[in-house]
Amino acid sequence: MHQTKGLLIDMDGVIYRENQLLPKAADFIHHLIKTSTPFVFVTNNSAPTPEDLVVKLNHLGISGISARHFYTAAMNTAEFLAENHPCCTAFVMGDAGLTLALQKAGIPNDSIRPTYVVVGEGMQSTEKLSKAHELIEKGARLVATNPDNWCPVKKEVTRPGAGALAAYLEASTGQRAYFLGKPNPYMFQRARRLLQRHTEEVMMVGDTMETDIRGAIEVGMQACLVLTGSTRLEDLQNYVYQPTCVLEGVDELLEELRGTGTSSSRLQFLSRATTTAQKKPGAKHPDQRTEIAYPRPRPAMTK
Ligand SMILES: [Mg+2]
Repeated sequence: MHQTKGLLIDMDGVIYRENQLLPKAADFIHHLIKTSTPFVFVTNNSAPTPEDLVVKLNHLGISGISARHFYTAAMNTAEFLAENHPCCTAFVMGDAGLTLALQKAGIPNDSIRPTYVVVGEGMQSTEKLSKAHELIEKGARLVATNPDNWCPVKKEVTRPGAGALAAYLEASTGQRAYFLGKPNPYMFQRARRLLQRHTEEVMMVGDTMETDIRGAIEVGMQACLVLTGSTRLEDLQNYVYQPTCVLEGVDELLEELRGTGTSSSRLQFLSRATTTAQKKPGAKHPDQRTEIAYPRPRPAMTK
């Protein structure tokens, strides 16, 4: 924690949940601004633009941020395609965040012979799905902004994600999709570049094991799991990769950064996880924010 010089921060389940800020989230971000600690919000949601996200966080009570504080899976996808295939074109299935990111990267829309079919968030008509299917059959490659099969909407309510849409087209065409966004290392490396810090100086703060924690660990970053979102402490025993620290939420991380908290470590976390595992299944950990954590197990967010 002491070597951390920059932070990548997930939003849903870390900063807010259901349009409600999590405890001390605004203080946490304002502390980073005050101490000139570089940070970027990284999200797999490809629907909003960075400007949309500034407005959202402003409404929730976080001030002093601008579009440069956000890096979305849509921006990551646009950057990847422009870099790997400079003259490519795309048939896009997604919202403004994705279409604008591709436009900004100089990738034209193409519904006749696109290089890529790019799938993001948002429900699609059967006609559009059929068109995408047809274009992939003609040779377009299938790319998805992120692998999330479902996304949280509110407590116990989810919606299908870009991963589910990609799975539909994978099934119909027999072609495999390539996924950008978390946990793809390309997402983490590009977000890190914005911080102008070395990989080992950066810590990812997230609530989802399959995306936030997996990607950070695989790329060599510190990974801090917070329990205010989709992961319960007792779920950790199901994963090969483990966070480098686990905290109740960003309120606890704020205390750590201010130097007023008790230091968290993997060892400390492991002892707590063991204690929890000995309880009967479904028992609540005393530290767990059950009012905001999902009360029932959900399938893994990604394949
Ligand atoms: Mg999250």
